[in-house]
Amino acid sequence: MTWIDDYTNAMMKSAPTPGALLTRGEGCYVWDADGNRYLDLLGGIAVNVLGHAHPFLVSAVTAQLATLGHVSNFFTTPNQVGLAERLLELLDAPPGSAVFFANSGTEANEAAFKLSRRTGRTGLVAAEAGFHGRTMGALALTHKPAYREPFEPLPGNVVHVPFGDLDALDQAIDQHTAAVFLEPIQGEAGVRTPPPGYLSAARERTRAAGALLVLDEIQTGMGRTGAWFAHQLPAVLGAGEAPVVPDVVTVAKGLGGGIPIGALVALGPEAAGLLSAGQHGSTFGGNPVATAAGLATLHVIERDGLLANATSTGDHLAAAIDSLAEPLISGVRGHGLLRAIQFSQPVAGATARHLLTAGFIVNAVAPDALRLAPPLILTTDQADTFVAALPAALAAAAKEIS
Ligand code: PLP
Repeated sequence: MTWIDDYTNAMMKSAPTPGALLTRGEGCYVWDADGNRYLDLLGGIAVNVLGHAHPFLVSAVTAQLATLGHVSNFFTTPNQVGLAERLLELLDAPPGSAVFFANSGTEANEAAFKLSRRTGRTGLVAAEAGFHGRTMGALALTHKPAYREPFEPLPGNVVHVPFGDLDALDQAIDQHTAAVFLEPIQGEAGVRTPPPGYLSAARERTRAAGALLVLDEIQTGMGRTGAWFAHQLPAVLGAGEAPVVPDVVTVAKGLGGGIPIGALVALGPEAAGLLSAGQHGSTFGGNPVATAAGLATLHVIERDGLLANATSTGDHLAAAIDSLAEPLISGVRGHGLLRAIQFSQPVAGATARHLLTAGFIVNAVAPDALRLAPPLILTTDQADTFVAALPAALAAAAKEIS
């Protein structure tokens, strides 16, 4: 029996077959059970912002677990309030703003979906190719038919519009619209940035219609793109655009550096007041260990200048891939350390497989695109080892499709 047989016998077949049995991690590397080392350029799907087994995160989490591990939402803890305050600061939140803690991205969006219903309206607008999670409400916002159709009927009144198309957004928003849900950069769609000015215009249109603007920063937040949140990035907003203040921001993934946590941040008293006592809750949400992880992660990002590192290493990586001048590579998209390599042929799956064999973890986010979402501590030297390995993996993949 191999580990894959054990996996197959014990695990539900809802996920793709795993690529390796991983047993250990340190920094940007993980090791499998046979001792093979991999440079982790996926970071647990944009989660491990501090890499693996980061000493500060490990000590914060273990110290908290040894002191007070869980209390339920009948009580609060200094960490919970501290992390909420920190998130409000990072979002430059106006007075009256407030945080709800969940345990994952889909739960943060589920909370936002419920909050939107408290406007008294039920219409929702989301983007084509957008991804917001897999629980029923979040799934209704997610666009991909293969994810949605087996579970229909989903909670209703969601209209999907082409991402980045202002006219389509205008036509979809009316007096029944409770909220517009958008990713500032679409992650699962292959790292797609909307045209400059799109988010500002979405803000303007939602405000005029009395609808909420919900920005899903689950994949793009916590420094991933070189700013704390992608909607704060001038390259995403558009040059000269005023800052966008959404009504709700949802976060998860990188927030806990690998410990499950999600959050909904409601900006301003109106959005923050929509859910009243007893209308939403979570047993684990914002527990002392998860919020210790959140505080530790934010502390290290700031202390070690990881926003700047995400920008400089991300730019270096993109330039180095470009300079390969590989005929199969048609471009590199994204910002900071959220990138996609676009191919002119559907070689992403095979390339990812060959890269894994060569010791690099990446993700075929589409048949013709690879996604990179590595730890924000990635160095340029580590990035260069990947760039050096890419041509051989690509050549092997190209052979398979020829
Ligand atoms: N929203 C976005 C933009 C995501 O990328 C994801 C996960 O990939 C989610 C929501 C769902 O998060 P989770 O898998 O933690 O439920």
